[in-house]
Amino acid sequence: MEFILNKIKEYNKILIFGHVRPDGDCIGSQYGLARIIKESFPNKEVIVSGETSDYVSFIGEPTMANDADFKGSLGICVDIANSERVSDQRYKNCDYIIKIDHHPNVEAFGDYNYVDDTAPACAQIITEFYLNYNKELKMTKDAAMALYVGILTDTGRFKFDSVKSKTFKMASILLDFGISLGYIDNKLSVETVKTLKLRGYCLENFNVTENGFAYIKMTREIINKYGVTDEEAANQVTAISTIEGCPSWALFIEYPTEIRIRLRSRGPIINSLAERWGGGGHPKASGATLGTWDKLPEFLKEIDKIVKEYKENNLDD
Ligand code: AMP
Repeated sequence: MEFILNKIKEYNKILIFGHVRPDGDCIGSQYGLARIIKESFPNKEVIVSGETSDYVSFIGEPTMANDADFKGSLGICVDIANSERVSDQRYKNCDYIIKIDHHPNVEAFGDYNYVDDTAPACAQIITEFYLNYNKELKMTKDAAMALYVGILTDTGRFKFDSVKSKTFKMASILLDFGISLGYIDNKLSVETVKTLKLRGYCLENFNVTENGFAYIKMTREIINKYGVTDEEAANQVTAISTIEGCPSWALFIEYPTEIRIRLRSRGPIINSLAERWGGGGHPKASGATLGTWDKLPEFLKEIDKIVKEYKENNLDD
């Protein structure tokens, strides 16, 4: 981490990148880090470049940096395992590239890579970075809120096994900067009538395979019928996360150019399957590509086998 701090000191222009279809941890890590750097070194230019997320737009809304911003800059990519998922591919034009991430280190695409795949959120790593050098680095309330939201969303609200005592320590440090949990919860939990109705559709229409893999088919037709954004539709993956006898589940979502799989688990390890289907991710939360709907039976056959094997060896689901 000291190496990262020294690199930050060395450059006057720093760009911070996230991944395609960013989530709370991505946007939280981008803005958390950007705000810490800006507060600590006011003369540096810090630019958050990338895609926005409506869900966490209250943290900040990135735009794409100008071409001219890249010359002589330091690029820091957060919450991204592999190069092709960086939402601004011009990141390669930065003078020096650092990757900070918590996914399995499938591709060390930075000139320097700091990866801790035991951290439940990239925002936890950024908080630790701040804590390690808090004589030199300064936190702000807005930075703390961004990082807290990153940790909160990537742990399913502190629910997953990946949450350790360190996670609570980092969260408590962030809380001391005066952030409002009520405000954050309002922003994350209040839903529109449209998304609630879509959730009703998902609860009525999910499918279950022979051995207990639950899934939702989110077609363009359904997205259009309910009048929701793609992001709102994709977020429905949580609708079927607590079905007894279904330790793994997914939402298949039809984007205009591809069908993506948002694959989840509370038992079976699913990231190697995701890798075989053109994706990757964490052992219990991965993304992949289906291609076309006619590939669905093949995918279901593979995941159903994984669930069956899991159940044969585990008695708890
Ligand atoms: P998602 O369902 O898009 O939220 O993805 C779940 C997790 O898998 C996230 O941590 C993503 O970063 C990761 N992931 C999703 N798609 C891919 C991919 N194509 N390659 C590698 N990791 C991915």
